[in-house]
Amino acid sequence: MNIVTTDVLIVGAGPSGLAMAALLAREGIDAITVTKYGGTAHSPRAHITNQRTMEVFRDLGMEADITRVATANDLMGNNVWATSFAGPEIARLLTWGSGPERRTDYDLASPCAMGNIPQHVMEPVQLQRALDLGADIRFGMEVVAISQDDEGVTAQVRARETGQEFRIHAKYVVGADGGRSLVADQLGFEMDGQMGLGAAVNVWLEADLTKYTAHRPGTLYWMSQPGNDFWVGSGTWICVKPWTEWVLLSMYNPDDGEPDLSEAALIHRAQTTIGDPAVDIRIKAVSQWSINHVVATRFGRGRAFLVGDAAHRHPPANGLGTNTSIQDSFNLAWKLAHVLRGQAGPALLDSYHDERQPVGRQVVDRAMRSVQDMLPISQALGFTHGQSAEDGWASLDELFGATAVGEQRRQRLHAAVQLQNYQFNCHGVELDQRYASTAVIDDGTAWPAPTRDPELYHHPTTHPGARLPHAQLELDRQPVSTLDLVGKGRFTLLAGLRGQDWVEAARKVAADLGIPLDARIVGPQAEAADVLGRWAQLREITDAGALLVRPDHHIAWRSTGSSDAPAADLDTALRRILARADIPATRAGHDPRSAA
Ligand SMILES: Cc1cc2nc3c(=O)[nH]c(=O)nc-3n(C[C@H](O)[C@H](O)[C@H](O)COP(=O)(O)OP(=O)(O)OC[C@H]3O[C@@H](n4cnc5c(N)ncnc54)[C@H](O)[C@@H]3O)c2cc1C
Repeated sequence: MNIVTTDVLIVGAGPSGLAMAALLAREGIDAITVTKYGGTAHSPRAHITNQRTMEVFRDLGMEADITRVATANDLMGNNVWATSFAGPEIARLLTWGSGPERRTDYDLASPCAMGNIPQHVMEPVQLQRALDLGADIRFGMEVVAISQDDEGVTAQVRARETGQEFRIHAKYVVGADGGRSLVADQLGFEMDGQMGLGAAVNVWLEADLTKYTAHRPGTLYWMSQPGNDFWVGSGTWICVKPWTEWVLLSMYNPDDGEPDLSEAALIHRAQTTIGDPAVDIRIKAVSQWSINHVVATRFGRGRAFLVGDAAHRHPPANGLGTNTSIQDSFNLAWKLAHVLRGQAGPALLDSYHDERQPVGRQVVDRAMRSVQDMLPISQALGFTHGQSAEDGWASLDELFGATAVGEQRRQRLHAAVQLQNYQFNCHGVELDQRYASTAVIDDGTAWPAPTRDPELYHHPTTHPGARLPHAQLELDRQPVSTLDLVGKGRFTLLAGLRGQDWVEAARKVAADLGIPLDARIVGPQAEAADVLGRWAQLREITDAGALLVRPDHHIAWRSTGSSDAPAADLDTALRRILARADIPATRAGHDPRSAA
């Protein structure tokens, strides 16, 4: 049998596999991506792309291409609850940072904006970028068996068109093969949680709803018809293309029987929830999926790693599916690259599990809780399972009646809608993933106490393990973000105005360790100029201090002030982070802050 060898085998070319393929290709790593189907996603699935994922795309040099195909943030904000598009509106919430109360939080937190990008539109852009960077991606190739030993992994691959089989032998495998991961199954990964907690139908359709949406542009329109038969409303309309293409998502309880998926029944559901028989509807595709609440107990085993849905499966609430998947790859790719180039010890790869598994846990729990948090809306509407349409309308009449009871019930509805901020304006969960592992050197200080709800609000900090805070700077008279100074596969040292010693130390250490390490001074009138003084407010170090930022924008180490031996301190820190065996004992345990 034909055997192909490579350094990294990526199984799957969904959002996580494509991100991994692009990131490794940029680093010049020998990798092959095999993927079962003949092309990228053939239907819209996930659609919310959050700021952190946009930062990954920006790092990969593809933010502009993604933004070009996205529905912009200012057209995605209105979350509308109504009995139908044409019927009475029940409630509205401005989401994804688009409302005036949250806009500034989002603008201050990142140079990137959230967008609505259906998966079948996003994946081709990801694919093109990966190919442009030189990735080797093979479609129509299914991994049918996989095993690993101390030396590497061996996958048996079948070309689906010809049935021909061959083997790929790799040093590492990345299982980016989605919710039914063969890599996870065959390499003994265990899952914690429950699958099949609910069932959903996605109907992708064309219907021109401009008349009902242009004045309240949004991503999600939740239809709750009195007398509904579905447990979270009559159907949620997800905007695919403003305002003519949609996914109508309906959830159901399989115990009540399978829904009628005939074209006539689906058109009837669409028509009822539009509430205007004059609107033409053309169904493009129908798919069924189920709600899972599952996370892998380990994200890495030996030479195998799971990213994306292979590692965590959860409801679409909070829009975290593709986002978390792409961010997994951003965490793992630089580690694989450094290990394969001999710049880091293999133990660096253990930090992938330590850092991303808690994120996976948080994300699946948050998404599940957000689904449960929608129940108070149905309760506030007075809708109950099996209720007649007449009783449902009577309940709505009372809710919106000019009576004391109505006023009280409206307060309850308002509270239920505000709870949805935990799903639709959950900025802390979206942005504040913080790592604790051997690839981060804790400086012994406490994490700053949150000043606001840590799930709803982003709290910038440079505490080791945090994502580098965004501050707008000026470079060559152009506005840039602090995040533009870092990343792109390499470590970066950011020092203050009195940090020239750190910059020189970084150059020496980079040469000694043979790693790419950029260094620059950020401050007023520096080349990277803190013209607004915002960086000084955020950086939590003095002008004599320095931050060491990892290729994935997370702070690896910091010194709040100067050091009597900056090169030795930096050398020690990097050797530890990169799991290099030869840490000089003399400097181990030295606290550079003592010399500040
Ligand atoms: C119908 C539907 C609707 C969804 N809606 C949302 C939503 O609204 N919001 C949200 O956040 N998330 C949603 N999701 C989830 C979202 O699509 C996933 O979180 C995301 O696609 C995960 O990306 P991934 O790269 O990990 O896996 P996937 O996108 O599942 O990609 C897996 C890849 O692996 C390949 N593959 C699988 N097995 C093999 C094998 N044995 N050999 C080779 N290749 C293999 C497949 O071809 C595919 O390319 C939805 C999912 C579905 C199915």
